[in-house]
Amino acid sequence: MMPRRAQAITSARQNLNTQVSTMPEIFRAARVAPMTPGWPLLEDAAVVVQDQMILDVGPYGHLRRTHAGPVRDLGSLTLAPAVFNSHTHLEMTHMLGKTTTGQGFVAWVESLLANNAYGVDEPLVRTELTRLESRGCAFVADISTRNAPLLAGILASSGLGFVSFQEAIGSSPPDDPQTLLHQVDAVDQTGQSGHAGQAGQGACAVAGHALYSTGAQLMRAAKDVARAKGLPFSLHLAEHAEEDAILLTGQSPFLDLLRSRGILDGYSAPGMRPVPLAQSLGLLDEATLCVHCVTVTDEDIALIAASRASVCLCPRSNEHIGVGQAPLRELLDAGVNVCLGTDGLCSNADLDPFAELAWLGQRNPGLLTLCQGLALITANPARFFGPLVPGAKRLGSLAPGQAARFSVVPQAVLDVFSGADSD
Ligand SMILES: [Zn+2]
Repeated sequence: MMPRRAQAITSARQNLNTQVSTMPEIFRAARVAPMTPGWPLLEDAAVVVQDQMILDVGPYGHLRRTHAGPVRDLGSLTLAPAVFNSHTHLEMTHMLGKTTTGQGFVAWVESLLANNAYGVDEPLVRTELTRLESRGCAFVADISTRNAPLLAGILASSGLGFVSFQEAIGSSPPDDPQTLLHQVDAVDQTGQSGHAGQAGQGACAVAGHALYSTGAQLMRAAKDVARAKGLPFSLHLAEHAEEDAILLTGQSPFLDLLRSRGILDGYSAPGMRPVPLAQSLGLLDEATLCVHCVTVTDEDIALIAASRASVCLCPRSNEHIGVGQAPLRELLDAGVNVCLGTDGLCSNADLDPFAELAWLGQRNPGLLTLCQGLALITANPARFFGPLVPGAKRLGSLAPGQAARFSVVPQAVLDVFSGADSD
């Protein structure tokens, strides 16, 4: 049976995210994290909501005097904007528990290939999306290698904002590069209907897999298509030492594995590290999300920062596979816009951004305050996806005019960041 406090939190989330009243309502909570620049964590605060939009945010005592409407007191909860999962692979949701842990990338890929990794379990994906929404997630960035139209359709019928990336893998681009982009009737790519940030709003986009598995020509063609359409682009970048070795020398057990399967037969190493290579191909700009960035050097980080590309860390996936951890402090110090994703259930225990944040906080004690941590799953991804995807435009902060989509910060996250300075 669900504990009473968990029941209260679940019911608070449902009330917050499904209310449809036409008169203002005042949601009061012990703490509110607005996640807007210059706003600290507010104690005894409130959010005024009308027609699924935020009218006002501030101290409860002030808002009670300046706004009419019923008060819903959420008690001791900490209210934050609904959160983003900036990188996952829903098509591999059924792979939970079926891959190796901590044995490195080659062993992990072998365990992936030994299973039916691309056989989407549709009901399971829908269950995971429902679970995500119940935990206060409002946006998912999904990568799909073989099933992008199917996954885009599922996402469009969920209550989530999303981007559905179709992953380009191989050596050369198709005759018509536009076919790199999947089209799904259910997806409103114009953002013209309904409120931004509401159910099913998203975009179909294109991603590259990685610099060794997506050839330079194909990678460039994919980025060109994304750029021409004003869409976000994404690639796995600097995830593991095998990637560095393949690009620098062409000598790697992973390359041997791929060749044994008839992949990358004619591969010749460009002789560059991943980040400088990505930059030389014109892949890095403010519309590109670089996923992982585990093996980056200081010079690589400076290149990423100068390009204004964003970075998505997937720390539990890196731990699961056994490839090391990205230099979080250095990325933040360089001013890089850092987001957080879970990767797929092929390399993680769940898809919950809060669980990812709790793990990252535990791994980096004292590095981040609660608001700095929350930024990785709210304001930072909103900064990246907001200008590019309709479903992300009014998410990521609690401020007048934003969508009234909330999360309740779980106790596990509060516990991890309780030792840090209050914001
Ligand atoms: Zn991934």
